[in-house]
Amino acid sequence: MIEKEVIIIGAGPIGIACALECQKRNIDYVVLEKGALTNSLFNYPLNMTFFSSSEKLEIDKIPFISNNPKPTRNEALEYYRRVTTSNTLQINLYEQVFSVEKEGDRFHVNSDKNQYMVHNVVIATGFYDIPNLLNVKGEALPKVFHYYKEAHPYTLQDIVVVGASNSSVDAALEIYRKGGNVTMVVRGSQIGERVKYWVRPDIINRIEEGSIKAYFDSEITEIRDHDITIKTPEGHETFHNDYVIALTGYKPNFQFLKKAGVTFSEDEKHIPTYDDKTMETNVKGLYLAGVICGGMETHKWFIENSRIHAKMIVDHLESKATQNVAEDKKQHETI
Ligand code: FAD
Repeated sequence: MIEKEVIIIGAGPIGIACALECQKRNIDYVVLEKGALTNSLFNYPLNMTFFSSSEKLEIDKIPFISNNPKPTRNEALEYYRRVTTSNTLQINLYEQVFSVEKEGDRFHVNSDKNQYMVHNVVIATGFYDIPNLLNVKGEALPKVFHYYKEAHPYTLQDIVVVGASNSSVDAALEIYRKGGNVTMVVRGSQIGERVKYWVRPDIINRIEEGSIKAYFDSEITEIRDHDITIKTPEGHETFHNDYVIALTGYKPNFQFLKKAGVTFSEDEKHIPTYDDKTMETNVKGLYLAGVICGGMETHKWFIENSRIHAKMIVDHLESKATQNVAEDKKQHETI
């Protein structure tokens, strides 16, 4: 059993920010990460560009120099890697946490490699591991993907891209420009309003000129090996299809949080319970950091606005420690 003051679960940008903050204040911590460093960013599309400018993605005011007004995935990987190595942060990669259980005033944290006993746990596991499924027949076929990496495999193929958010639009445009025949199937009535302002006119123009076909107010009803059926306002349509790329968003691992004792709002947003001044959940000593805090509202938190969670959490850890010392002293004086 390994003892620590704090365990941080997840080495995404916000887990790294928490690690930096603990390190600066001499708090004994370790980060456990199930994949590579910044595993979600690593799995983003190869040519992805952030909508944030680089200074908004900085942690602990460490400069993030980018060659572009908006940094790319590769530049972000380089940045967070350098922040980690140059500060010799304590991060165990490829170690997955299965459970966090409270016993008395401590937590048992169980991973696939070790067991830990800790006073505080920060869950910074993001939302990128569990896709929102279409729940239609044929979704399990090997031609259906919920992540998009690059366009090359889709050249000269009939592709359906589901969704109209940033990810779907980026994928549709890139595949179209690499010679794929793209059809977008969109549940709403238009291209998402949050789509990057410099990309939105591009997709709208490609749809208007007919280079990319788009069905709005429509959804897939069945996927088969060589074709697909969709429901449109004009009725059902079936057409030839080679691949489906369903970029319909992702969700946090609610089961993991629930098992750790975290409660949620009862509406469809499923927002975990936490104090927005300290980030402590309804379980004392258990904190949330980063985009996981939004529950199903995955557009609420970004790196930009959640990097401050690190300082809030560590401020609270320090204030608890000071309080404990004061209480011990008082008890001593009474004795
Ligand atoms: P994540 O980066 O998702 O990190 C969570 C980590 O926890 C992962 O590495 C994961 O492997 C690990 N993990 C999960 N479960 C376990 C477990 N049980 N045990 C151990 N490790 C575990 N935000 C912006 O501010 N600006 C942008 O321009 C921007 N663009 C985006 C573009 C895309 C395509 C996407 C999907 C998101 C974008 N975001 C952007 C949002 C934000 O960047 C990401 O969601 C960001 O990765 C959130 O950081 P995080 O540290 O909270 O979570």
